[in-house]
Amino acid sequence: MSAPSDNMPITVSAGRAKPLLLRHLPYFICAAVLVALAAGMQFDGYVLNILMQATTFSIAVFGLSVVLGLCGQINLAQAAFFGFGAYAVGIGTTDLHLNYWLCLVAGCVIALAAGAFLGMSTLRLGGHYLAMVTISFQQIVTLVMINDIALTHGPDGVSNIGRPALFQTSQGYLAFCVAMLAIVGYLVWHLPDTRLGRAMRAVRDNELAAGVNGIDVLRTKVYAFALCAALGGLAGGLFAGGFAYVSPDQFAFADSIVFLTMSLLGGVASPIGSAIGTGLLILIPEWLRFLKSVPGLYLAIYGLFVILIIRFMPDGIWGFVNAAFARWCAKAKAPAPSAALKLMPATVGGDIVLDVKGLSKYFGGLKAVDGVDIQVKRGGVHALIGPNGSGKTTTLNVLSGLYRATSGKILLDGTDITNMPPHQRTAAGLGRTFQNIRLFRSMTALENVEIGAERPGNTMIGEGGSAALTERALEALNFVGLGSRANELISSFSYGHQRLIEIARALAANPTLLLLDEPAAGLNSTEKLELHELLKRIAAQGLTILIIDHDMTLVSEAAQHITVLNFGRRIADGESMAVLRHPDVVSAYLGTE
Ligand code: ADP
Ligand code: MG
Repeated sequence: MSAPSDNMPITVSAGRAKPLLLRHLPYFICAAVLVALAAGMQFDGYVLNILMQATTFSIAVFGLSVVLGLCGQINLAQAAFFGFGAYAVGIGTTDLHLNYWLCLVAGCVIALAAGAFLGMSTLRLGGHYLAMVTISFQQIVTLVMINDIALTHGPDGVSNIGRPALFQTSQGYLAFCVAMLAIVGYLVWHLPDTRLGRAMRAVRDNELAAGVNGIDVLRTKVYAFALCAALGGLAGGLFAGGFAYVSPDQFAFADSIVFLTMSLLGGVASPIGSAIGTGLLILIPEWLRFLKSVPGLYLAIYGLFVILIIRFMPDGIWGFVNAAFARWCAKAKAPAPSAALKLMPATVGGDIVLDVKGLSKYFGGLKAVDGVDIQVKRGGVHALIGPNGSGKTTTLNVLSGLYRATSGKILLDGTDITNMPPHQRTAAGLGRTFQNIRLFRSMTALENVEIGAERPGNTMIGEGGSAALTERALEALNFVGLGSRANELISSFSYGHQRLIEIARALAANPTLLLLDEPAAGLNSTEKLELHELLKRIAAQGLTILIIDHDMTLVSEAAQHITVLNFGRRIADGESMAVLRHPDVVSAYLGTE
């Protein structure tokens, strides 16, 4: 572990100073050129169709890059949401004689609502269940499209679909679709750097850690799912206007799989990957058209091509290119903070920060925690010790809301948090680290700590926006001695440093009470000494800490107060030295003769 450095030079990167839109001017220039090309070049009908398909499909695949790439949730019904948009424009402009724009918006809203409903009812499940539910939903939608003839015209589909007066020609409409692609692409590209985007990435990387860092996990997933569905709806609406005809076979389960393959092939993590994957999967069949005289050969080569790409580029084509590019570029220098980390402004409130009364947690017949009382005084270090399996981690998990208490009461600063979900407890002022480190592994150290700093109710951030957030996160990283490595990915840090990042993440949130679960576990003796020194500096700022640790030297030196558990029950509690000499404690650790 490197020594903490408080006097780093200020090298805030120059790019940060430029306004966002100016920095992204090249993107907008490229987009404008593409729109102009789409409007001005004279494509024949065949090329025009391919371009129209690629453009509209890409927008639907952007949705998958949000839900799967950013948030890690599967959606096997994107073709159904695409169909909602397409039929809204189809039926709306023909049967109902409504304005195109109204129908386009209606399609997005219907898809969004369906996505939000499906998400709210199923995203608690996750994994295979979510896949199964979305497949069923897709099948139901297809059945309705085929069989509800009065509404959807059944297998015949809807023809003569209208376009807006402004874009009556196919070229003009294509230019409009390309412009939409550029706008949606820009928004999706920047989503990861927003609060919602960071929350989605955190949920994808580690749901538990996301929850205890103040993120509402279910709501984040529902937002991602609904956003994906809405993009599907938008894409479908554009598609219907482009081809003037829709039928149920265009929105079947197989098409959902095609969308998914497009996103995986190009690289699900980025909208650029989505566009590449979509273009490629539309173009490959065209390139292989000359093979169509030999039955089966075309499909075999097509399949082999897709399998080879996914086998050798697991992160998709863009992921592969990106990784290669990252190896070439020198590591970006971390900007250094200008101020030292401040923790816990003088709080109003009682003497007792945490008041735990009769807390129990049973796992079936096992009483992991059994009627435990703990009172943590403000501004001190309170240790929770006990032999292995005595219920220490379980106590912390119940305190931070990962487990529901079987009975008992938890008051944090006088607020009853017993039945709150983890993110609300974090908002109420609880911070924690885990016995087995839980960082967001696809992110940099800085991004990890920013998520901590973003805690709702963090008075140290205020309305300063993203600059204040970064500043706060850098201060916290600097505090633990890792400020100069802020832009490195988690995987490049040693185990000891990862622990420090986890502590920095909790500190950046400016908690009222910090729970540390065996922070010294797995550290070597030098790292332990440095951790010890860090804890002293944290305690010196007056932050209240409840720490679990096995290292008696650390515990006896750092903690003023100790609670001892054995077999889930509290066997001693009080001033450190007295507790460590208590005969029950000695026998719990060393055994009686
Ligand atoms: P400590 O952190 O003090 O070493 P724990 O709190 O991890 O102990 O575990 C206390 C007891 O609860 C152990 O017997 C453990 O096996 C049991 N336990 C912990 N978590 C679970 C769980 N999720 N399900 C069932 N039993 C558990
Ligand atoms: Mg434990």
